[in-house]
Amino acid sequence: MSVLGKGLFQGLAVTARNFVGSYFDGGRKERLFTYQYPEEKMPLPENSRSFPFLVYDEDADPSGTMRCVACKICEVECPPQCIYIVMDRDENGKPRQRPEVFDIDISVCMQCQICVEVCPFDAIKMDNDYEKSEYDRYDDLVEHLPQLLKSNEYYHQIKPTEATEVDARLQAEKEKKAAKAAGKKAPAAKPAAKPAAQPTAKPAAPAAPGRKLEIPADAPFNQEQRAWLSGFLSSIQMGAPGPVAPTPAVPAEASTDEQPAAAAAEPEAASEEAPPAGDESWPWHDAGLELGARMDLAKDSSLADQLMAAMAQTDCNACGYDCRGYADAIASGDEDDLSLCLPGEAETEKMLEKLMEEKE
Ligand code: SF4
Ligand code: SF4
Repeated sequence: MSVLGKGLFQGLAVTARNFVGSYFDGGRKERLFTYQYPEEKMPLPENSRSFPFLVYDEDADPSGTMRCVACKICEVECPPQCIYIVMDRDENGKPRQRPEVFDIDISVCMQCQICVEVCPFDAIKMDNDYEKSEYDRYDDLVEHLPQLLKSNEYYHQIKPTEATEVDARLQAEKEKKAAKAAGKKAPAAKPAAKPAAQPTAKPAAPAAPGRKLEIPADAPFNQEQRAWLSGFLSSIQMGAPGPVAPTPAVPAEASTDEQPAAAAAEPEAASEEAPPAGDESWPWHDAGLELGARMDLAKDSSLADQLMAAMAQTDCNACGYDCRGYADAIASGDEDDLSLCLPGEAETEKMLEKLMEEKE
């Protein structure tokens, strides 16, 4: 049989049980739902969020170890446009790949976390700190770089699961880069084979006495000049790119047995001497180099390489590609917007325009 108003009495019983139970040890935490703020603060769940902050890795040098490279992707993507970034530069105007100014107007920020989502460097994260009230509604609500910088340790405190995942990802990327760099060095290590090629290359100078141009006996050369010229003419006949510098003693050492080996070694030596031709190695792909230096390094390379050298080399994806991809897309005509390299700023855009004008 149901009693009228039974639910009401059940509710009051729960309240009474919690009220009385809260006076006993062990029952307090479970039964009291109010916090004596600001003395007491409610622990926040990991996925709570307030406003963004910038992560740095070492307490000893926060600004030197901040992860932000001032690529400005977050500035561009922030829906209410409340982020303002100026890239740091040294006394020569060379970009330092870190922000000099990084402001977030938290009176405008809508806590959407898009800046966090788009940052390729895990440099900006959402904070849990909600105590942001200030007396001035304008300047005091603009957070500047020193306020925004917080340690990775702090990040671990507020969001341990997420921070651990980020650390693991960054470590994996670091290892991948190191492995890639080691792989790139492998061709550079090829010259280790050169010593083997060079001794056989020396006999290459007199390698084809039967078919080489003879230097007349009465030609006005001394012994040394004659030997050099002989080597030079031989190298031309062998199709080598330049003079092989034989010592005067070399012709005397040359033997017919050595000739095939020398002839075989010559092209190999020549190919190893040849620069990597930018296939894998892009010496300008160094964000620490100035634009002029990068362009110098790429001046004899393809248009795509020169376009790439004009970019900021941060591979930040602000353009929607990495630097190589953006350059290739412009060179192939798939991309016609030359203003996408945000960290390169106006100087990159101008250089891209110049290169494309020269191409036409
Ligand atoms: S996207 Fe990341 S690295 Fe780029 S400016 Fe913003 S916080 Fe810095
Ligand atoms: S949380 Fe959203 S609104 Fe706030 S700074 Fe980031 S992108 Fe802009």
